[in-house]
Amino acid sequence: MTVDAGHTTDSITIVGAGIAGAACARVLAAASVPFRIVDRGRAPGGRMSSPELHGRRVDLGAGYFTVRDQDFATVVADWESRGLARQWANTFGILKPDTEPCTTTGPVRWATPHGLRSLVRDMLDGVDIEGSTELTDLPDGDVVLAMPDPQAARITTVPDVVEYVPVIAVAVGVDRLDLPFRDAAFVNDHPDVDFVVDDGARRGDDAPVLVAHTTSERAQRHLDDPDLAVAPVLDALRELSVIASQPAWTHAHRWTFAKPAAQHDSTFALENRSGRFVGFTGDQWCESGVPRVESAWRSGTDLGMELVRRLES
Ligand SMILES: Cc1cc2nc3c(=O)[nH]c(=O)nc-3n(C[C@H](O)[C@H](O)[C@H](O)COP(=O)(O)OP(=O)(O)OC[C@H]3O[C@@H](n4cnc5c(N)ncnc54)[C@H](O)[C@@H]3O)c2cc1C
Repeated sequence: MTVDAGHTTDSITIVGAGIAGAACARVLAAASVPFRIVDRGRAPGGRMSSPELHGRRVDLGAGYFTVRDQDFATVVADWESRGLARQWANTFGILKPDTEPCTTTGPVRWATPHGLRSLVRDMLDGVDIEGSTELTDLPDGDVVLAMPDPQAARITTVPDVVEYVPVIAVAVGVDRLDLPFRDAAFVNDHPDVDFVVDDGARRGDDAPVLVAHTTSERAQRHLDDPDLAVAPVLDALRELSVIASQPAWTHAHRWTFAKPAAQHDSTFALENRSGRFVGFTGDQWCESGVPRVESAWRSGTDLGMELVRRLES
């Protein structure tokens, strides 16, 4: 099958069905390279997570994405044409304690009517995902580890591990919203909350649901019991005049490895270890720009292309 020096295996396991693993899978599938994909979660998506809460999907991880990469733009144009993604907003609010709200304009943010997980599901359409399968050792054959470095390091040695910072996402259902911002707001100089988004606006159904992201410092204090983050988050939202009354419901989700604290200077790593390939991909493999959804897609795509090249050369 291959002439890569000393390479002896003919099976590939992708561990991690987030967008990096899904992007790698797409490249392998297009080249007719057989693979299996496993994930410890029941559903694919990883940090693009959109569970159903109180009757509708809520984006609890990434809630929007940007499109600077030209190849990614082609993928997004296809999603847009099929109604899976839409241009949402380029102006967000800025909230700061004891200060009048203002706004900041940046790149167009894209959102999804069915939650961001729907995009990963679309990428893996027709692929048999082995869910609820947590690997603790490298499986036989070639392996792609598509996950944050600290998670990959539980399975094998990772080159130059990049650490991650935590976030607790708190979803808040209210009777009605009367917000001091439109769509979403960055929160500056607050010890507990650094972002809050109108989930109904980004999803396009106008449901009165907010999602607030804690600062990493606040998250760090509640990793054992994320529900304890709810009270300080609600206090912060009241202080910032985002909510006035008691919410109808709340839900806290812990992301121990939410965002890379640094990044690698290449888009992936691929090592030949004793005759088999071990590849590393994910948002931390981001040689320029900020680690995010589109860098994870770029990373998985680049690793997939390099694997195909080395398997077929
Ligand atoms: C709260 C939050 C807000 C964010 N906001 C934005 C945003 O607005 N815009 C943006 O672009 N990005 C945002 N991001 C970042 C974005 O979600 C990530 O960059 C992107 O989803 C990373 O994808 P990935 O495939 O690299 O990793 P992941 O999505 O983390 O996928 C890794 C997968 O590996 C699986 N896994 C891990 N260990 C094992 C194991 N041992 N065995 C089997 N499976 C395993 C996990 O279950 C997971 O599904 C946000 C992230 C968080 C947490």
